[in-house]
Amino acid sequence: MAQFDYDLFVIGGGSGGVRAGRVAASLGKKVAVAEESRFGGTCVIRGCVPKKLLVYASHYSKLLADGAGYGWTIPEARFDWPTLVANKEAEITRLEGIYRRGLETNGAQMIDSRAIVSGPNTVRIAASGREVSAENILIAVGGRPNAMPELAGHEHCIVSDDVFDLAELPKSLAILGAGYIALEFACIFAQLGTEVTVVLRGDEILRGFDDDVRRHLRTEMEKKGVRFITGALFKSVALSGAQRRIELTNGETITADQALLATGRVPNTSALGLEAAGVSVEWGGKIVVDELSRSNVPSIWAIGDVTDRVQLTPVAIHEAMCLIETLYRDNPAGPDHELIATAVFTQPEVGTVGMTEAHAAEMCRDLDIFVSRFRPMKYILPGRDEKMLMKVIAEASSGRVVGVHIVGPDAGEMAQLLGISLKMGATKEDFDRTMAVHPTAAEELVTMYQPSYRIRDGRRVDG
Ligand code: FAD
Ligand code: NDP
Repeated sequence: MAQFDYDLFVIGGGSGGVRAGRVAASLGKKVAVAEESRFGGTCVIRGCVPKKLLVYASHYSKLLADGAGYGWTIPEARFDWPTLVANKEAEITRLEGIYRRGLETNGAQMIDSRAIVSGPNTVRIAASGREVSAENILIAVGGRPNAMPELAGHEHCIVSDDVFDLAELPKSLAILGAGYIALEFACIFAQLGTEVTVVLRGDEILRGFDDDVRRHLRTEMEKKGVRFITGALFKSVALSGAQRRIELTNGETITADQALLATGRVPNTSALGLEAAGVSVEWGGKIVVDELSRSNVPSIWAIGDVTDRVQLTPVAIHEAMCLIETLYRDNPAGPDHELIATAVFTQPEVGTVGMTEAHAAEMCRDLDIFVSRFRPMKYILPGRDEKMLMKVIAEASSGRVVGVHIVGPDAGEMAQLLGISLKMGATKEDFDRTMAVHPTAAEELVTMYQPSYRIRDGRRVDG
């Protein structure tokens, strides 16, 4: 069979690529994984993991402040950004090692180089210039932050990749965008004492999320001192001493120590040689794949962020596992993108699974909506003015729960478990007959017996 050098050549050693490469190698396939930066990819090196470490770090300001209500006298606390950056670096280096060892012990060959597609079954390794052949090529090159080259003065701005290694904690930060990344960093820095301004082109944050979640989160972030400027864009950015002077399209000018562009991500497909192999790419650079993650070239497959289906780590990993089924287990399997639970690690946190009210009203027409807003018990003694939101959306005819949306402590952890219930088709009656765990915040999810309001034929009919 030695017609090709490899059974599978994976380009990109991130969440999707490492999983596919490791499992294929464990099945006895001859596999190479090329990575041009650090194994682990966005999630481990400059995404989910270091971000969550920063989130944990930022929680301490609230915990220390709230301690007094529980009888603690805490001497004035000091925060040291370089210590956090150094500890974060040590942890991602440890994880990078685990990723490398996982590939190595399963027999995959690691290639520390950029790789470029040079034909339907050939790849060129940039570091050596060597061309190798593979029966199948998997493109798992992910994406990078949109650096907005069209913005005057964009070179004075940072993107999410830069945040993790800033030399010092900025005293002020202006952020363009109001999606996952903008809001997570806004909360991290606000909690660490930075003055944060979020500039968004729309009139509400977190497009695509339930409207109650969007409003609730923004109100809570405002209470924590984050300033929002809606209906505006950065028009230009200039240096003014050590600061950034940012002109906005609404005529306002703001200054900040740092300006963060968080306006989405661009697939890493430029100069990847896709044209040479005849691989179809959509406007914006994403690779077009079918339901089995196969490109229009039968030997070339693509998974993860580069296909821009759902840009989340567990999705990239799931797509990798499906590909293994398809290629090596004689079981063609398309990824399931239905009912993906997700969390936004803001403060308060967002956890959500299923349809928003607006989407469900369109799809199901008749709904019962259960909403609860309350102050979590743990904030009462500290006197913290932070409310939690829980919202359950049930289809009226079947009782099936089609969406659950939470804003508050541990919302992400709850969303993970609710994801199982919704995937199993749980009804509101199933929720009602589930015994509460007391005292918890999550018990509210199973004790909202009466609808707060109803939607009939797509419209709200009572309050
Ligand atoms: P990646 O992980 O991006 O891996 C692609 C790899 O390919 C990279 O290592 C890159 O260096 C390499 N590469 C690119 N081109 C080449 C080439 N030509 N040759 C060789 N190597 C190449 N998702 C969550 O689920 N939860 C979160 O909390 C979360 N937080 C995030 C926070 C931030 C700041 C960011 C930016 C993203 C976050 N994500 C989160 C998204 C998540 O990181 C991505 O969805 C996930 O990493 C996608 O995996 P992937 O394998 O498609 O690509
Ligand atoms: P998002 O798509 O979440 O948000 C992009 C934001 O930028 C939106 O507010 C959007 O506005 C705005 N925007 C887009 N283009 C422009 C423009 N030209 N000018 C001004 N504003 C613009 O992308 P992110 O970069 O925040 O994150 C990328 C992806 O990474 C996420 O979608 C998510 O899948 C993943 N991620 C997941 C996390 C998690 O699971 N916790 C954390 C971080 C990232 P508008 O709303 O008007 O379109």
